[in-house]
Amino acid sequence: MNLRSKISPTLRMARDLGMPASAEPVAYLTAYCRRLIDRWVHDFTPRSLRELLDTVAAKIGVMIEEVHDDRDLIEISHRYLSQGEGTFARITAELDQRTFALAIRLRRSRNGCTHVAVIDCRGSKYARRWFSMWHEIVHLMLNPQLELDFRRTTAESKDPVEAMIDKIAGELAFYPPMYDSPLLSSGRPSMADLETHRKLLSPEASREAAYATAVSRISRPALFLVAGLALKASEQRALDSRRFPAVPPTPQLRVLRTAGSENAKAAGLFVPHHYRVPPSSIIYRLFHEEIDSSSDGIYREVENLDQWIDSTGRSLPSLPIVVETTRNGTQVVFAIITTIEPQ
Ligand SMILES: [Zn+2]
Repeated sequence: MNLRSKISPTLRMARDLGMPASAEPVAYLTAYCRRLIDRWVHDFTPRSLRELLDTVAAKIGVMIEEVHDDRDLIEISHRYLSQGEGTFARITAELDQRTFALAIRLRRSRNGCTHVAVIDCRGSKYARRWFSMWHEIVHLMLNPQLELDFRRTTAESKDPVEAMIDKIAGELAFYPPMYDSPLLSSGRPSMADLETHRKLLSPEASREAAYATAVSRISRPALFLVAGLALKASEQRALDSRRFPAVPPTPQLRVLRTAGSENAKAAGLFVPHHYRVPPSSIIYRLFHEEIDSSSDGIYREVENLDQWIDSTGRSLPSLPIVVETTRNGTQVVFAIITTIEPQ
């Protein structure tokens, strides 16, 4: 039996790229990609994250095609077919509900490119497109020859290589040296700052992904949270297992996702997932339209974290906070929570 077939694919990939025996594959491969990108940034000095993505795509020889509607898909398919690339006859059928992207090797390279990444940006996949592009780029950075001529990236893949590629893509999509802007390092971060920062550096990224990344890199304690209607974890489990209660549970405004700065937890800024947003909070009042509209759609209030109470009546620790909140569409609200430091 071939010994190579026994080791995990991530380990094999890392070893093929020169990893010493003692190293950890994901960390090694992330650092490997970072080194390449650092060098290209030095050589080509891109000014925004989009320029960085275009630079990296050119260096590894991949053309990125974005599909925003069905017409785009047909146009891309026809364009490559007319150039003798028969594989493109499949792309309309292959880009199904579960598929985020396709990577296709060209029969004949074009403008120095050997591959095309077709990124599905239609409907709900739009929010993920920035990561989808980076995902395909990372595949090619780690495996320039790409054994396969055709590869699909699908939702919720359990494949360890896919999980690793996602992790590296997440690191690179908001390339830290360009994403650390003075805008965020001075003073209290605001929604307006986050939006300016996003537009400047990564207008392609979704607001949620860009804000969460920015807040996770802020130097002062800060927490970004997304709230929307949801059931309690136990209610959801009961529904999932089809044990329907006599009275159907009502979804409440709850914390869906959070991203904290490195020192947020140490400063006491922590709200568990699924925690109910208290009716006294500006976040709740904005979501339920209990407040008058402000011109910029951003609302700020001084609150205390001890307003947050779980179903057993226990509250979060007392901590004076500034809460800034805004809507994102009709389903969720965003909030940034920062501490109030004594003068
Ligand atoms: Zn993939």
